[in-house]
Amino acid sequence: MWPVVGIVGGGQLARMTYPAALELGVRLSVLAAHPDDSAAQVARDPVVADEKALDDLEAFAKACDVVTFDHEHVAQEHLRALEAAGVPLRPGSDALLYAQDKVEMRARLSALGIPCPSHRIVAGPGGVASFLREHGGQAVLKTARGGYDGKGVWLVDDVTPAEVVAEPFRAGVPVLAEERVAFRREVAAMVARSPHGQAVAYPVVESVQRDGVCAEVIAPAPEMPEERAVEAQRIALTVAAELDVVGILAVEMFETTEGDFLVNELAMRPHNSGHWTIDGAVTSQFENHLRAVLDLPLGEPQARAPYTVMVNILGGDLPEIYPAYRHVMARDPGVKVHWYGKSVRRGRKVGHVTAYGDDLESLRERAWHAAEYIRGDIDE
Ligand code: ADP
Repeated sequence: MWPVVGIVGGGQLARMTYPAALELGVRLSVLAAHPDDSAAQVARDPVVADEKALDDLEAFAKACDVVTFDHEHVAQEHLRALEAAGVPLRPGSDALLYAQDKVEMRARLSALGIPCPSHRIVAGPGGVASFLREHGGQAVLKTARGGYDGKGVWLVDDVTPAEVVAEPFRAGVPVLAEERVAFRREVAAMVARSPHGQAVAYPVVESVQRDGVCAEVIAPAPEMPEERAVEAQRIALTVAAELDVVGILAVEMFETTEGDFLVNELAMRPHNSGHWTIDGAVTSQFENHLRAVLDLPLGEPQARAPYTVMVNILGGDLPEIYPAYRHVMARDPGVKVHWYGKSVRRGRKVGHVTAYGDDLESLRERAWHAAEYIRGDIDE
């Protein structure tokens, strides 16, 4: 019997899982909010339903052997109700909690002795003021839940206007204050882990953020000594095992100027820092996510080339993207273009490009050129 993997959420991550599922012959079912969602466009019979409604989730899960996720926004109470009804969720609700709630995540990682930025829950602007006094006048405020791509994150200091400092508290969820880490760069360590505990670690990557959104990923992170990369992989493998994560886990970290790592964020699903693996690794993150949730042996995570560069295409000025393909493809047949089928809005992640080979500087130039041309920032 060929198993059916259900994915809750119809975004680009679910969409990019389809090619891997086709190759493996695994059947996918996707629950999407709208028939024109990124993954619903490529699904055979997308289930258009409301992931906020337990009835809809239950009906969807009935037709699946295992259920996994395109994002981490399904309510804990629904996850627990599904598990109580016998639905195999991968990852399970106990693990997902730490990808959903930054306060829970910081507490758990700290208890495990995993290095994190120093932090504490603050009750209001007064609490922020004392945190700032203790941390050199700079801090980062984060809402415990509901943030993504830099939303739900505020950089504050001594001169930040009071109304900005008050903003995070309006959501009515706990607010975390963190020291502002003077990091050298941001890196991510990705692992895949299966229910019986097999795990593989991908090469550690550098992720370049612009305005809180991932702009570029370089695999492997340049000039990272082997033993430091192994240390980052060890942290990710420890988190995956201790939190009993099943599927892909991406651990976003700050690398300090001393070469130490502080964990920033966890994602328990395929992640932007792993898009390079489609073209650049022996087994993509999407295939390994499927293998893991089905408890199949995992695939080799090794890179196919010395370097792979992935650049996100964010919505820009050109509403029509397709005409740009001719120029980009003619200029550089080695660049791979991935499009998510989403409508173009300024700043929205609508696709990515990848280039792989030996010469990092030329790969970066080629990938950035393609992304900027498609976006409409340059015209030659
Ligand atoms: P999300 O992924 O939910 O958007 P993050 O916690 O990853 O939010 O924060 C977004 C970005 O804000 C990070 O990629 C980083 O550039 C910056 N940032 C977050 N926390 C800190 C911190 N403690 N110190 C310095 N910069 C931070």
